[in-house]
Amino acid sequence: MSDAQRTSKVVKFGGSSLADAGQFRKVKDIITADPARRYVVPSAPGKRFSEDTKITDMLYTCQRFASEGKDFSEVLGQIRSRYLEIAKDLGLSFDPTDELDRIAFRLKEGATRDFAASRGEYLNGMLLADYLGFPFVDAAEVICFNESGTLLMTETMMLLREKLADMPYAVIPGFYGAGPNGEIITFSRGGSDITGSLVARAVRAEIYENWTDVSGVLVADPRIVKNAAVINTITYEELRELSYMGATVLHEDAIFPVRAAGIPINIRNTNEPSAPGTLIVSGDSADSDAQTGYTITGIAGKKGFCAINIQKAMMNAELGFCRKVLSVLEDMGISFEHMPSGIDTMSIILAEETIKGREKTVLSRIRKAVEPDSIELEHGISLLAVVGRGMRRTRGTAARIFAALAHARINVKMIDQGSSELNIIIGLLDGDFEEAVRRIYDMFVNSTLTESGE
Ligand code: ASP
Repeated sequence: MSDAQRTSKVVKFGGSSLADAGQFRKVKDIITADPARRYVVPSAPGKRFSEDTKITDMLYTCQRFASEGKDFSEVLGQIRSRYLEIAKDLGLSFDPTDELDRIAFRLKEGATRDFAASRGEYLNGMLLADYLGFPFVDAAEVICFNESGTLLMTETMMLLREKLADMPYAVIPGFYGAGPNGEIITFSRGGSDITGSLVARAVRAEIYENWTDVSGVLVADPRIVKNAAVINTITYEELRELSYMGATVLHEDAIFPVRAAGIPINIRNTNEPSAPGTLIVSGDSADSDAQTGYTITGIAGKKGFCAINIQKAMMNAELGFCRKVLSVLEDMGISFEHMPSGIDTMSIILAEETIKGREKTVLSRIRKAVEPDSIELEHGISLLAVVGRGMRRTRGTAARIFAALAHARINVKMIDQGSSELNIIIGLLDGDFEEAVRRIYDMFVNSTLTESGE
Protein backbone atom coordinates (compact mmCIF):
# COMPACT_ATOMS: atom_id res chain seq x y z
CA MET A 1 0.00 0.00 0.00
CA SER A 2 1.39 3.37 -0.99
CA ASP A 3 1.76 6.33 1.39
CA ALA A 4 -0.77 8.21 -0.66
CA GLN A 5 -3.42 5.66 0.26
CA ARG A 6 -2.57 5.73 3.96
CA THR A 7 -3.63 9.34 4.19
CA SER A 8 -6.79 8.98 2.23
CA LYS A 9 -10.35 9.88 2.93
CA VAL A 10 -13.14 8.00 1.23
CA VAL A 11 -16.06 10.22 0.30
CA LYS A 12 -19.49 8.87 -0.55
CA PHE A 13 -22.12 11.16 -2.01
CA GLY A 14 -25.80 10.27 -1.82
CA GLY A 15 -28.34 10.73 -4.60
CA SER A 16 -29.55 14.18 -3.56
CA SER A 17 -25.92 15.37 -3.50
CA LEU A 18 -25.68 14.44 -7.19
CA ALA A 19 -29.20 15.21 -8.36
CA ASP A 20 -28.26 17.96 -10.84
CA ALA A 21 -25.35 19.98 -12.20
CA GLY A 22 -25.48 22.47 -9.32
CA GLN A 23 -25.04 19.62 -6.87
CA PHE A 24 -22.18 18.16 -8.94
CA ARG A 25 -20.38 21.50 -8.63
CA LYS A 26 -20.72 21.44 -4.85
CA VAL A 27 -19.38 17.90 -4.81
CA LYS A 28 -16.35 18.88 -6.87
CA ASP A 29 -15.65 21.84 -4.58
CA ILE A 30 -15.77 19.55 -1.56
CA ILE A 31 -13.40 17.04 -3.14
CA THR A 32 -10.89 19.56 -4.38
CA ALA A 33 -10.88 21.40 -1.02
CA ASP A 34 -9.00 18.49 0.54
CA PRO A 35 -6.40 16.52 -1.41
CA ALA A 36 -6.86 13.55 0.92
CA ARG A 37 -10.34 13.03 -0.56
CA ARG A 38 -9.10 10.52 -3.10
CA TYR A 39 -11.69 7.81 -3.41
CA VAL A 40 -15.17 8.85 -4.38
CA VAL A 41 -18.26 6.64 -4.21
CA PRO A 42 -21.36 8.12 -5.87
CA SER A 43 -25.01 7.09 -5.72
CA ALA A 44 -27.26 7.51 -8.75
CA PRO A 45 -28.86 10.94 -9.22
CA GLY A 46 -31.64 11.28 -6.66
CA LYS A 47 -34.55 13.66 -6.29
CA ARG A 48 -34.12 17.33 -7.24
CA PHE A 49 -37.39 18.24 -5.50
CA SER A 50 -39.80 16.25 -3.37
CA GLU A 51 -42.07 15.00 -6.19
CA ASP A 52 -39.13 14.09 -8.41
CA THR A 53 -38.23 10.45 -9.18
CA LYS A 54 -34.86 8.90 -8.43
CA ILE A 55 -32.96 7.45 -11.39
CA THR A 56 -32.84 4.12 -9.51
CA ASP A 57 -36.64 4.00 -9.35
CA MET A 58 -36.90 4.87 -13.04
CA LEU A 59 -34.55 2.00 -13.85
CA TYR A 60 -36.65 -0.40 -11.78
CA THR A 61 -39.66 0.77 -13.78
CA CYS A 62 -37.85 0.09 -17.07
CA GLN A 63 -37.03 -3.44 -15.94
CA ARG A 64 -40.60 -4.08 -14.82
CA PHE A 65 -42.00 -2.81 -18.12
CA ALA A 66 -39.49 -4.94 -20.02
CA SER A 67 -40.44 -8.05 -18.05
CA GLU A 68 -44.13 -7.40 -18.83
CA GLY A 69 -43.31 -6.93 -22.50
CA LYS A 70 -44.23 -3.21 -22.33
CA ASP A 71 -42.44 -0.36 -24.05
CA PHE A 72 -40.06 1.42 -21.67
CA SER A 73 -38.44 3.79 -24.15
CA GLU A 74 -40.10 6.88 -22.68
CA VAL A 75 -38.75 6.25 -19.17
CA LEU A 76 -35.33 5.41 -20.59
CA GLY A 77 -35.49 8.66 -22.56
CA GLN A 78 -36.10 10.59 -19.33
CA ILE A 79 -33.08 8.90 -17.74
CA ARG A 80 -30.98 9.84 -20.74
CA SER A 81 -32.15 13.46 -20.55
CA ARG A 82 -31.19 13.74 -16.89
CA TYR A 83 -27.62 12.58 -17.46
CA LEU A 84 -27.31 14.66 -20.62
CA GLU A 85 -28.62 17.76 -18.89
CA ILE A 86 -26.07 17.42 -16.08
CA ALA A 87 -23.22 16.77 -18.52
CA LYS A 88 -24.19 19.67 -20.77
CA ASP A 89 -24.53 22.09 -17.90
CA LEU A 90 -21.07 21.08 -16.66
CA GLY A 91 -19.61 21.50 -20.15
CA LEU A 92 -18.78 17.80 -20.51
CA SER A 93 -19.06 15.74 -23.66
CA PHE A 94 -20.27 12.71 -21.69
CA ASP A 95 -23.15 11.06 -23.56
CA PRO A 96 -24.91 8.02 -22.08
CA THR A 97 -26.78 7.16 -25.30
CA ASP A 98 -24.67 4.15 -26.35
CA GLU A 99 -24.63 2.75 -22.82
CA LEU A 100 -28.39 3.20 -22.53
CA ASP A 101 -28.91 1.45 -25.88
CA ARG A 102 -26.94 -1.51 -24.55
CA ILE A 103 -28.95 -1.42 -21.31
CA ALA A 104 -32.22 -1.37 -23.30
CA PHE A 105 -31.02 -4.35 -25.34
CA ARG A 106 -30.16 -6.32 -22.20
CA LEU A 107 -33.47 -5.46 -20.57
CA LYS A 108 -35.34 -6.80 -23.59
CA GLU A 109 -33.26 -9.97 -23.27
CA GLY A 110 -34.50 -10.41 -19.69
CA ALA A 111 -31.84 -8.63 -17.60
CA THR A 112 -32.46 -8.71 -13.83
CA ARG A 113 -33.76 -5.97 -11.52
CA ASP A 114 -30.33 -5.74 -9.93
CA PHE A 115 -28.68 -5.18 -13.28
CA ALA A 116 -31.18 -2.45 -14.19
CA ALA A 117 -30.88 -0.63 -10.85
CA SER A 118 -27.08 -0.76 -10.83
CA ARG A 119 -26.83 1.20 -14.07
CA GLY A 120 -27.80 4.40 -12.26
CA GLU A 121 -24.61 4.32 -10.18
CA TYR A 122 -22.58 2.97 -13.08
CA LEU A 123 -23.46 5.86 -15.40
CA ASN A 124 -23.22 8.44 -12.64
CA GLY A 125 -19.79 7.10 -11.70
CA MET A 126 -18.60 7.57 -15.27
CA LEU A 127 -20.06 11.06 -15.42
CA LEU A 128 -18.51 12.10 -12.12
CA ALA A 129 -15.14 10.57 -13.02
CA ASP A 130 -15.17 12.60 -16.22
CA TYR A 131 -16.02 15.79 -14.32
CA LEU A 132 -13.35 15.27 -11.64
CA GLY A 133 -10.70 13.95 -14.03
CA PHE A 134 -10.39 10.80 -11.87
CA PRO A 135 -10.17 7.26 -13.26
CA PHE A 136 -13.36 5.18 -13.15
CA VAL A 137 -13.35 1.72 -11.54
CA ASP A 138 -16.34 -0.50 -12.33
CA ALA A 139 -17.62 -1.86 -9.00
CA ALA A 140 -18.34 -5.17 -10.76
CA GLU A 141 -14.58 -5.76 -10.85
CA VAL A 142 -13.97 -5.17 -7.16
CA ILE A 143 -17.08 -5.90 -5.08
CA CYS A 144 -17.96 -9.60 -5.05
CA PHE A 145 -20.89 -11.65 -3.91
CA ASN A 146 -21.48 -15.39 -3.72
CA GLU A 147 -24.26 -17.11 -5.68
CA SER A 148 -26.82 -16.36 -2.98
CA GLY A 149 -26.02 -12.64 -3.01
CA THR A 150 -23.94 -12.46 0.18
CA LEU A 151 -20.95 -10.13 0.09
CA LEU A 152 -17.59 -11.91 0.02
CA MET A 153 -15.54 -9.71 2.33
CA THR A 154 -12.09 -11.28 1.95
CA GLU A 155 -12.25 -11.43 -1.84
CA THR A 156 -13.64 -7.90 -2.02
CA MET A 157 -10.84 -6.54 0.16
CA MET A 158 -8.24 -8.32 -1.95
CA LEU A 159 -9.64 -7.06 -5.24
CA LEU A 160 -10.13 -3.50 -4.02
CA ARG A 161 -6.61 -3.33 -2.60
CA GLU A 162 -5.08 -4.79 -5.70
CA LYS A 163 -6.98 -2.45 -7.98
CA LEU A 164 -6.45 0.73 -5.98
CA ALA A 165 -2.82 0.06 -5.03
CA ASP A 166 -1.50 2.15 -7.91
CA MET A 167 -4.43 4.51 -8.16
CA PRO A 168 -4.11 7.56 -5.94
CA TYR A 169 -7.55 8.75 -7.09
CA ALA A 170 -10.63 6.89 -8.30
CA VAL A 171 -14.39 6.99 -8.64
CA ILE A 172 -16.03 3.69 -7.70
CA PRO A 173 -19.82 3.61 -8.17
CA GLY A 174 -21.83 2.51 -5.15
CA PHE A 175 -24.62 -0.02 -4.67
CA TYR A 176 -23.49 -2.98 -6.80
CA GLY A 177 -20.91 -5.63 -7.45
CA ALA A 178 -20.84 -8.94 -9.25
CA GLY A 179 -21.61 -12.58 -8.49
CA PRO A 180 -19.48 -15.63 -9.35
CA ASN A 181 -20.45 -15.56 -13.03
CA GLY A 182 -20.07 -11.84 -13.45
CA GLU A 183 -23.80 -11.21 -13.04
CA ILE A 184 -24.58 -7.86 -11.44
CA ILE A 185 -25.83 -7.99 -7.84
CA THR A 186 -26.87 -4.96 -5.78
CA PHE A 187 -27.04 -4.36 -2.06
CA SER A 188 -30.45 -3.44 -0.68
CA ARG A 189 -31.71 0.14 -1.19
CA GLY A 190 -29.35 2.81 0.09
CA GLY A 191 -26.49 0.35 -0.36
CA SER A 192 -23.96 2.83 -1.75
CA ASP A 193 -23.21 3.51 1.92
CA ILE A 194 -21.89 -0.04 2.12
CA THR A 195 -19.67 0.38 -0.92
CA GLY A 196 -18.15 3.49 0.65
CA SER A 197 -17.49 1.62 3.84
CA LEU A 198 -15.83 -1.26 1.98
CA VAL A 199 -13.58 1.07 0.02
CA ALA A 200 -12.63 2.90 3.22
CA ARG A 201 -11.67 -0.36 4.86
CA ALA A 202 -9.75 -1.56 1.82
CA VAL A 203 -7.57 1.56 1.59
CA ARG A 204 -7.38 1.88 5.39
CA ALA A 205 -8.76 5.38 5.11
CA GLU A 206 -8.30 7.81 7.97
CA ILE A 207 -12.00 8.63 7.74
CA TYR A 208 -15.08 7.63 5.79
CA GLU A 209 -17.05 10.75 4.91
CA ASN A 210 -20.66 10.13 4.03
CA TRP A 211 -22.07 13.24 2.36
CA THR A 212 -25.82 13.65 2.35
CA ASP A 213 -28.47 16.37 2.60
CA VAL A 214 -28.70 16.76 6.39
CA SER A 215 -26.09 18.19 8.73
CA GLY A 216 -25.61 14.93 10.59
CA VAL A 217 -27.52 12.58 12.84
CA LEU A 218 -30.16 14.51 14.76
CA VAL A 219 -31.01 14.09 18.44
CA ALA A 220 -34.65 13.47 17.47
CA ASP A 221 -36.76 13.04 14.36
CA PRO A 222 -37.12 16.54 12.83
CA ARG A 223 -40.69 15.71 11.80
CA ILE A 224 -41.51 15.56 15.52
CA VAL A 225 -39.05 18.05 17.01
CA LYS A 226 -38.55 21.20 14.95
CA ASN A 227 -34.90 22.27 14.56
CA ALA A 228 -33.66 19.20 16.39
CA ALA A 229 -30.00 19.53 17.39
CA VAL A 230 -27.24 17.66 15.55
CA ILE A 231 -25.33 14.98 17.46
CA ASN A 232 -21.61 15.85 17.40
CA THR A 233 -20.22 12.45 18.29
CA ILE A 234 -22.01 9.14 18.49
CA THR A 235 -20.67 5.62 18.97
CA TYR A 236 -21.38 2.78 16.56
CA GLU A 237 -23.35 1.06 19.34
CA GLU A 238 -25.53 4.10 19.97
CA LEU A 239 -26.15 4.55 16.29
CA ARG A 240 -27.19 0.94 15.99
CA GLU A 241 -29.70 1.38 18.82
CA LEU A 242 -31.13 4.52 17.22
CA SER A 243 -31.23 3.01 13.73
CA TYR A 244 -32.96 -0.08 15.02
CA MET A 245 -35.62 2.16 16.48
CA GLY A 246 -36.21 3.96 13.24
CA ALA A 247 -33.59 6.70 12.84
CA THR A 248 -32.52 6.46 9.21
CA VAL A 249 -29.08 7.83 8.59
CA LEU A 250 -26.85 5.18 7.15
CA HIS A 251 -27.52 1.76 5.71
CA GLU A 252 -27.22 -0.60 8.67
CA ASP A 253 -24.68 -2.83 6.94
CA ALA A 254 -22.37 0.11 6.27
CA ILE A 255 -21.17 0.22 9.84
CA PHE A 256 -19.55 -3.17 10.19
CA PRO A 257 -16.69 -2.91 7.63
CA VAL A 258 -15.29 0.35 9.01
CA ARG A 259 -16.09 -0.40 12.62
CA ALA A 260 -14.01 -3.56 12.48
CA ALA A 261 -11.12 -1.51 11.10
CA GLY A 262 -11.51 1.36 13.60
CA ILE A 263 -12.25 3.92 10.90
CA PRO A 264 -14.61 6.72 11.99
CA ILE A 265 -17.54 7.75 9.82
CA ASN A 266 -18.34 11.41 9.39
CA ILE A 267 -21.86 12.28 8.21
CA ARG A 268 -21.66 15.59 6.34
CA ASN A 269 -24.00 17.90 4.49
CA THR A 270 -23.17 18.64 0.85
CA ASN A 271 -25.34 21.75 1.07
CA GLU A 272 -23.55 23.02 4.17
CA PRO A 273 -19.97 21.79 3.84
CA SER A 274 -18.63 24.01 6.63
CA ALA A 275 -20.75 22.19 9.24
CA PRO A 276 -18.73 19.50 11.05
CA GLY A 277 -21.58 16.98 10.87
CA THR A 278 -21.72 13.90 13.07
CA LEU A 279 -18.72 11.76 13.86
CA ILE A 280 -19.41 8.07 14.41
CA VAL A 281 -16.65 6.43 16.42
CA SER A 282 -15.93 3.40 18.55
CA GLY A 283 -16.95 3.45 22.23
CA ASP A 284 -13.33 3.76 23.43
CA SER A 285 -12.59 6.92 21.50
CA ALA A 286 -15.95 8.42 22.44
CA ASP A 287 -15.36 7.96 26.15
CA SER A 288 -12.38 10.24 26.06
CA ASP A 289 -14.46 12.81 24.26
CA ALA A 290 -15.76 15.33 26.75
CA GLN A 291 -18.32 16.98 24.49
CA THR A 292 -21.14 14.47 24.85
CA GLY A 293 -23.46 17.38 25.33
CA TYR A 294 -26.75 16.44 26.87
CA THR A 295 -26.26 13.12 28.78
CA ILE A 296 -28.48 11.52 26.21
CA THR A 297 -27.28 11.16 22.65
CA GLY A 298 -30.54 10.64 20.84
CA ILE A 299 -34.19 9.68 20.95
CA ALA A 300 -35.86 7.42 18.42
CA GLY A 301 -38.93 5.27 18.32
CA LYS A 302 -41.57 3.51 16.32
CA LYS A 303 -45.27 2.84 16.37
CA GLY A 304 -46.85 -0.43 15.35
CA PHE A 305 -46.22 -2.78 18.28
CA CYS A 306 -48.55 -4.95 20.31
CA ALA A 307 -48.29 -6.77 23.61
CA ILE A 308 -49.36 -10.27 24.55
CA ASN A 309 -50.25 -9.93 28.24
CA ILE A 310 -50.28 -13.22 30.13
CA GLN A 311 -51.33 -13.75 33.71
CA LYS A 312 -51.23 -16.91 35.82
CA ALA A 313 -51.21 -17.35 39.59
CA MET A 314 -47.89 -18.75 40.81
CA MET A 315 -46.32 -18.21 37.41
CA ASN A 316 -43.00 -17.51 39.10
CA ALA A 317 -42.89 -21.00 40.64
CA GLU A 318 -43.62 -22.80 37.40
CA LEU A 319 -40.34 -23.97 35.93
CA GLY A 320 -40.03 -23.44 32.18
CA PHE A 321 -43.05 -21.12 31.88
CA CYS A 322 -41.22 -18.50 29.81
CA ARG A 323 -39.53 -21.10 27.69
CA LYS A 324 -42.85 -22.70 26.78
CA VAL A 325 -44.36 -19.36 25.78
CA LEU A 326 -41.32 -18.37 23.77
CA SER A 327 -41.19 -21.80 22.10
CA VAL A 328 -44.61 -21.10 20.61
CA LEU A 329 -43.27 -17.89 19.08
CA GLU A 330 -40.11 -19.62 17.91
CA ASP A 331 -42.05 -22.46 16.29
CA MET A 332 -44.13 -19.90 14.43
CA GLY A 333 -41.06 -17.94 13.33
CA ILE A 334 -42.05 -14.85 15.34
CA SER A 335 -39.39 -12.75 17.01
CA PHE A 336 -40.19 -10.44 19.90
CA GLU A 337 -38.78 -7.12 21.08
CA HIS A 338 -39.13 -7.06 24.87
CA MET A 339 -40.46 -9.20 27.67
CA PRO A 340 -41.22 -7.23 30.82
CA SER A 341 -42.53 -9.41 33.64
CA GLY A 342 -44.02 -9.39 37.15
CA ILE A 343 -44.30 -12.27 39.59
CA ASP A 344 -47.47 -13.67 38.08
CA THR A 345 -47.55 -11.74 34.81
CA MET A 346 -45.51 -11.44 31.72
CA SER A 347 -45.89 -9.36 28.58
CA ILE A 348 -44.30 -9.91 25.26
CA ILE A 349 -43.92 -6.88 23.06
CA LEU A 350 -43.70 -7.57 19.36
CA ALA A 351 -44.14 -5.79 16.07
CA GLU A 352 -47.76 -5.96 14.89
CA GLU A 353 -46.71 -7.06 11.42
CA THR A 354 -44.99 -10.18 12.75
CA ILE A 355 -48.26 -11.70 13.98
CA LYS A 356 -50.74 -10.07 11.63
CA GLY A 357 -53.33 -12.60 10.50
CA ARG A 358 -52.04 -15.17 13.00
CA GLU A 359 -53.16 -13.52 16.24
CA LYS A 360 -55.73 -16.15 17.16
CA THR A 361 -53.40 -19.05 16.48
CA VAL A 362 -50.62 -17.48 18.56
CA LEU A 363 -52.92 -16.95 21.53
CA SER A 364 -54.51 -20.39 21.37
CA ARG A 365 -51.13 -22.08 21.11
CA ILE A 366 -49.85 -20.18 24.15
CA ARG A 367 -53.06 -21.09 25.98
CA LYS A 368 -52.46 -24.72 25.21
CA ALA A 369 -48.79 -24.57 26.18
CA VAL A 370 -49.08 -22.87 29.61
CA GLU A 371 -52.81 -22.75 30.52
CA PRO A 372 -52.77 -19.14 31.77
CA ASP A 373 -55.54 -17.60 33.89
CA SER A 374 -55.82 -14.89 31.28
CA ILE A 375 -54.20 -13.89 28.05
CA GLU A 376 -54.94 -10.87 25.89
CA LEU A 377 -53.52 -9.02 22.96
CA GLU A 378 -53.13 -5.27 23.31
CA HIS A 379 -52.70 -3.14 20.18
CA GLY A 380 -51.50 0.39 19.50
CA ILE A 381 -48.18 0.41 21.37
CA SER A 382 -45.17 2.55 20.52
CA LEU A 383 -41.62 1.97 21.64
CA LEU A 384 -39.35 4.88 22.33
CA ALA A 385 -35.62 4.52 22.93
CA VAL A 386 -33.60 7.09 24.80
CA VAL A 387 -30.00 6.32 23.92
CA GLY A 388 -26.81 7.69 25.43
CA ARG A 389 -23.42 6.46 26.52
CA GLY A 390 -23.45 9.31 29.05
CA MET A 391 -26.16 7.57 31.10
CA ARG A 392 -23.68 5.14 32.60
CA ARG A 393 -21.87 7.85 34.49
CA THR A 394 -24.77 10.19 35.15
CA ARG A 395 -27.31 9.68 37.89
CA GLY A 396 -30.91 10.69 37.57
CA THR A 397 -31.31 10.18 33.85
CA ALA A 398 -34.27 7.84 34.29
CA ALA A 399 -35.77 10.23 36.86
CA ARG A 400 -35.58 13.09 34.37
CA ILE A 401 -37.14 11.02 31.57
CA PHE A 402 -40.06 9.88 33.69
CA ALA A 403 -40.55 13.29 35.27
CA ALA A 404 -40.84 14.74 31.78
CA LEU A 405 -43.46 12.14 30.87
CA ALA A 406 -45.32 12.49 34.16
CA HIS A 407 -45.61 16.26 33.73
CA ALA A 408 -47.18 15.65 30.35
CA ARG A 409 -49.55 13.10 31.93
CA ILE A 410 -48.21 10.40 29.67
CA ASN A 411 -48.75 6.88 30.92
CA VAL A 412 -45.74 4.58 30.65
CA LYS A 413 -46.71 1.01 29.79
CA MET A 414 -43.30 -0.59 29.89
CA ILE A 415 -39.73 0.24 30.87
CA ASP A 416 -36.65 -1.69 29.86
CA GLN A 417 -33.07 -0.72 30.57
CA GLY A 418 -30.37 -2.98 29.18
CA SER A 419 -27.38 -3.96 31.29
CA SER A 420 -25.14 -1.84 29.09
CA GLU A 421 -26.97 1.25 30.39
CA LEU A 422 -26.78 2.55 26.88
CA ASN A 423 -30.50 2.93 26.44
CA ILE A 424 -33.84 3.04 28.16
CA ILE A 425 -36.76 1.70 26.18
CA ILE A 426 -40.21 2.93 27.02
CA GLY A 427 -43.53 1.46 25.86
CA LEU A 428 -46.35 3.98 25.36
CA LEU A 429 -49.72 4.25 23.72
CA ASP A 430 -49.44 5.34 20.08
CA GLY A 431 -51.34 8.54 20.79
CA ASP A 432 -48.71 9.68 23.30
CA PHE A 433 -45.69 8.96 21.16
CA GLU A 434 -44.90 12.32 19.54
CA GLU A 435 -45.54 14.30 22.71
CA ALA A 436 -43.28 11.94 24.66
CA VAL A 437 -40.43 12.49 22.20
CA ARG A 438 -40.85 16.27 22.45
CA ARG A 439 -41.00 16.27 26.25
CA ILE A 440 -37.90 14.13 26.65
CA TYR A 441 -36.06 16.23 24.07
CA ASP A 442 -36.98 19.41 25.94
CA MET A 443 -35.94 17.95 29.25
CA PHE A 444 -32.43 17.12 28.05
CA VAL A 445 -31.59 19.41 25.18
CA ASN A 446 -33.43 22.61 25.95
CA SER A 447 -32.94 22.51 29.71
CA THR A 448 -29.21 21.84 29.20
CA LEU A 449 -29.04 24.97 27.11
CA THR A 450 -30.77 26.93 29.87
CA GLU A 451 -28.53 25.46 32.56
CA SER A 452 -25.38 26.48 30.76
CA GLY A 453 -26.89 29.90 30.12
CA GLU A 454 -26.91 29.57 26.31
N1 ASP B 1 -29.41 4.41 -5.74
C1 ASP B 1 -29.72 3.38 -4.79
C2 ASP B 1 -31.00 3.70 -4.07
O1 ASP B 1 -31.70 4.64 -4.43
C3 ASP B 1 -28.58 3.12 -3.85
C4 ASP B 1 -28.10 4.30 -3.04
O2 ASP B 1 -28.43 5.45 -3.35
O3 ASP B 1 -27.38 4.10 -2.08
O4 ASP B 1 -31.35 3.01 -3.15
